[in-house]
Amino acid sequence: MTTRRRSVVRPGRPGARGGGGVAFAGFATLTFLAAAALFAQTALRWSPVAGDLLAGAALVVAFAVARKIAIEVDIRDTSWRITLTEIPVVVGLLLVSAPVVALAFASVTLIARLYRRDQPAKLVLNVASSTVVVAATAVTAEFVVRPLLPLAPAWAVILLSFLVGHALTSGLGLLGIRLVGAGTFRTATRVMLHTYVTGILAAVAGLVAVELVLGARWGWLLVTLLAICLAAIYRTYYGLLRDQRDLGVLNEVSLRVASAARTEEIDCAAAVSDDHDVWAPALELARVQLNAGRVVLHRRITAERFQTVVAGQPLPRALTCSDVQPLLVRPAGDDNGGARRVSGGVADPAVRDALDVRGASEVLVARLPGADQLLGIIEVHDRQSRLRGFDDADLRLVETLASHFTTGMDNRRLLAQLRHDAYHDTLTELRNRLGFREDAVEVLRDHQSFAVLVIEVDLLSSVNDALGHAWGDRIIVAAGRRLREQLPADVIIARLEGDTFAALLLDCDEGEAVIVAEQVRAALRPPYPVEKLEVESSARIGIALSDVEPTRDVDTLLQRADVALQTTRLGDASVRSYVPSMGQVFLRRFQLVTQFRQALDTGQVDVHFQPKLALATRQVIGVEALVRWQHPEFGMLDPEEFVAIVEATGLIDALTGFVLDQALAQCRVWFDRGLGLSVAVNLSVRNLADAEFPERVTEALQRHGVPPGLLGFELTESAVMSDPERALPVLRRLHGLGVHIAVDDFGTGYSSLAYLRRLPVDEVKIDKSFVLGMGSDLSDLAVVRAIVDLGHSLGLTVVAEGVEEDVARDHLIEMGCDVAQGYLISRPLACERFEAWLRARTMRARGRRDETVLTLVR
Ligand code: C2E
Ligand code: CA
Ligand code: CA
Repeated sequence: MTTRRRSVVRPGRPGARGGGGVAFAGFATLTFLAAAALFAQTALRWSPVAGDLLAGAALVVAFAVARKIAIEVDIRDTSWRITLTEIPVVVGLLLVSAPVVALAFASVTLIARLYRRDQPAKLVLNVASSTVVVAATAVTAEFVVRPLLPLAPAWAVILLSFLVGHALTSGLGLLGIRLVGAGTFRTATRVMLHTYVTGILAAVAGLVAVELVLGARWGWLLVTLLAICLAAIYRTYYGLLRDQRDLGVLNEVSLRVASAARTEEIDCAAAVSDDHDVWAPALELARVQLNAGRVVLHRRITAERFQTVVAGQPLPRALTCSDVQPLLVRPAGDDNGGARRVSGGVADPAVRDALDVRGASEVLVARLPGADQLLGIIEVHDRQSRLRGFDDADLRLVETLASHFTTGMDNRRLLAQLRHDAYHDTLTELRNRLGFREDAVEVLRDHQSFAVLVIEVDLLSSVNDALGHAWGDRIIVAAGRRLREQLPADVIIARLEGDTFAALLLDCDEGEAVIVAEQVRAALRPPYPVEKLEVESSARIGIALSDVEPTRDVDTLLQRADVALQTTRLGDASVRSYVPSMGQVFLRRFQLVTQFRQALDTGQVDVHFQPKLALATRQVIGVEALVRWQHPEFGMLDPEEFVAIVEATGLIDALTGFVLDQALAQCRVWFDRGLGLSVAVNLSVRNLADAEFPERVTEALQRHGVPPGLLGFELTESAVMSDPERALPVLRRLHGLGVHIAVDDFGTGYSSLAYLRRLPVDEVKIDKSFVLGMGSDLSDLAVVRAIVDLGHSLGLTVVAEGVEEDVARDHLIEMGCDVAQGYLISRPLACERFEAWLRARTMRARGRRDETVLTLVR
């Protein structure tokens, strides 16, 4: 038995199989001479007999059969070919003269090698070593073993001598392998040791068989049965071994594929294109396990484009879609969806051409069907073995591998999609805030000066309110497109949220940034066509420059640009660059936002009361509740400053609830004293957008035991008009409770009195700016007069706020204005001070309906 190691030809390793070289040729020649000498030794004593010819013929057949029924074992990329030629060697030597055996073996080897087109040196070496094993064994038996052990049985002599002869050929083999440079010394030695041991096993088996056949009755039957049993055991064992190895490789491949799907650096572009390094290692594993020449993965990029990854021998030329197609067409009747085996023997010329293009004679193909489309195709080319091609187990392995690849690719695609979604805005396909940050950080590494623009396109609320969100979305998309067209392609653009965009300008100073900002504004300005209308919009832009308070932190820059943007609301410039003093304003805002909730809980927030006076009777009829925040650091804060911030952060519910509670509690105290002082609470837009607000008011009224008639709400017209659809029902329900409703700051908005008629309103409050100017400005006076008249004509109570001077009060009395509120009467006062004011400045009297009334004295 011999085991031969054949290494698979791999690109880039020339000479591994060549067997060329002067040293090798010399070695082959030497071996041949030695073989000839040994053969001569045996031939000298040979007196041919008639039977030798027959025996020689029988031996030729035996050697040929022994070679043919070689057992092939694939381990990794090496085929182990266990031939059984040792059996005819020992059997021959036992029964026939040595030269006959040597000649038979040498001639079979010669024919086989010629057939295989071995190079001359290799051919010579192989023929020589076949001769050596026979002749050396015979010579050892003749000159060493027989003289030493004259009584030993013939089989023992042959076996002992074979140990020597076989050692010699094994050693020659080892030298040969080393000379052609295949494998390391360690592997070569291992191979030879293995060859030696299996050779002895075969020899023993051969001798046992001969002794049994010759010695025992029906011995040949026993030997045949034994051979069958051994073959059966081998087959099972080999199958199990292979299954186990397949499993191991599957496991490894699936681990690799899974980790490929997880790799950090996938972005969308990479997931569809440059993926060679991701899949190649898994393909190589599969190739080794299948002992294939190459494994090819075609990954579908688009319907017409495939990306090809190859493991093993390079393809003779790049494959196109039309080279792949013929392999996928299944012959009629074959509806098996799994892998498929295609070999040169088929009739279809397209298939034969496809094989030619690959330089392959046998190919296994499997599709990679993804969740919704074909993800790719896997091809396995030519088994690296002469003895057998791919079998059904290989086909199954390819199927399983294909399903692992499919899952891995699907996952990878999904992950790329998720990543894309995480960094992009679905509406505009621009980046989102996260994507902007990610890309900006990357780009900023190699740039010194840059500017971040935050752009607010002021149209969303009006469009959304008037036309619905779908139209608002369309305008946002249009604005995003205009931005993209206006700015150079390398400028990173993102939609941060709502109608706010950001852009990163590289290598620019303030002057350039402002110019770009103005261009952007100009690009965004033309009206947006919506249905048959055209929506006007204007953009405001805040700029943060990297060298103002130098920083490279994208978040900081975005925040600063946002601060600059906020300040455009205050003045008339639509483009502003960040300066550090804006930062302080921002910091203060930030502190207020974060501290408000706690301020409510720790008693920093309080309610002040400002009296309302009925001008005709000088009676104090009620108060307006005005919120105050005693901030530990900033001192007393005006609501003008913090209410808007609180509103923007969604805490307005808490604030309104707090003021309502304080106001009703105080109202109840007065009520218990017999005083019918009404309280007015200011509402914000958000309160009116809250459908549950009326319920909470009802609950608060009940909890405090205050009649609804003593509670009033003040809201500005813009609060009602920003979203009338939602505000009106809430307002109607509040009015339905019996609560008074006042329109605050009247005259500053756009509303006409005609529209006031449609609102459930009891009172108008003339904005203090008109009242304050009344003394000096005739037009203010005219406005006040007009509002008083029109208000009365609509049956509304008219209140003037901001009454600071006697003149104003007198004018108002003269006009017939109903109620006055202002510093002239009192500033807003904290509870105790208000009580003191009441005591000092009013007089209790009995009213017409027997109630207590407070009349202002002096
Ligand atoms: P407003 O509702 O128009 O309140 C009247 C404002 O005019 C108060 O300012 C008051 O102090 C001031 N005022 C009253 N009489 C005079 C006067 O003779 N001369 C001048 N120059 N000013 C006068 P305040 O308290 O600073 O409140 C400002 C605004 O803050 C309020 O305007 C109101 O819109 C809002 N606000 C106050 N408290 C609350 C609240 O509890 N909730 C809500 N949502 N907003 C509130
Ligand atoms: Ca008010
Ligand atoms: Ca007001």
